[in-house]
Amino acid sequence: MTTGATELAERLARVRSRVAAAESAAGRPAGSVRLLLATKTQDAATVRAAVLADIAGAATTAGTARRVLLGENRVQELVAKGPDLADLAPELHLIGPLQSNKVNAALRWATCVQSVDSTALADRLARRCADDDRTLDVLVQVNVSGEPTKHGAAPQDALDVVRAVAGHHRLQLRGFMTVGANTPDERAVRAGYAALRDLRDKVSGSGEAGTGDAVELSMGMSRDLEAAVAEGATIVRIGTAVFGPRPVRAGVPGTAPAA
Ligand SMILES: *Cc1c(COP(=O)(O)O)cnc(C)c1O
Repeated sequence: MTTGATELAERLARVRSRVAAAESAAGRPAGSVRLLLATKTQDAATVRAAVLADIAGAATTAGTARRVLLGENRVQELVAKGPDLADLAPELHLIGPLQSNKVNAALRWATCVQSVDSTALADRLARRCADDDRTLDVLVQVNVSGEPTKHGAAPQDALDVVRAVAGHHRLQLRGFMTVGANTPDERAVRAGYAALRDLRDKVSGSGEAGTGDAVELSMGMSRDLEAAVAEGATIVRIGTAVFGPRPVRAGVPGTAPAA
């Protein structure tokens, strides 16, 4: 099922006004937060419709021509949808875990991997980039909430991953990513986001080689983007608030239960 273009445009406008209100409430300049559309489980036609709606929405705001930013969790989906979106030239980021046997496929489509959480993965990505004579933007994913179900480096290991990324000249350390605590307790959510900001400030201000551009904070999702923007997010990753609830996978991949 494909969500209608009008509905997507309306939801995008609502999300953009939430971001704008949060920027304003935090005393941050308008446009300081980028919107990444988290497209997991959405089919290529729906993603395409959202990209077109976002481009059309941007065109109504003078001077804000922008490249649409999309994030995929699974390399399989990146590879499947990439060709259908290529003519729209979106910026594609990987925001989910990356297994070693999927690195080549991921790098065919992604210009940034936001989910680098180990020195081993950094080394593997750097080797692949050297083979391809290219560079790759990287965010280090940190599990600030410590919830065991979450991906990301443990906070005490994050600096090792930072050093591994910064030490490879093919990898450009652009900042940090986290998935916020899954709790209605806004103070706990904000504490996690503040911790990621502190880490970013420490690293980008360290003066160490390869860390000066580590400015991005990719944090905040549909339920908590306001908390993330208040704590300094530069990228919010939004799925449900734009695409609606995701279909539940009922055992068979790609199938959704009759709604
Ligand atoms: C799904 C997902 C999002 C978007 O979550 P919503 O709650 O649907 O907005 C953001 N980041 C990551 C890593 C995700 O997996």
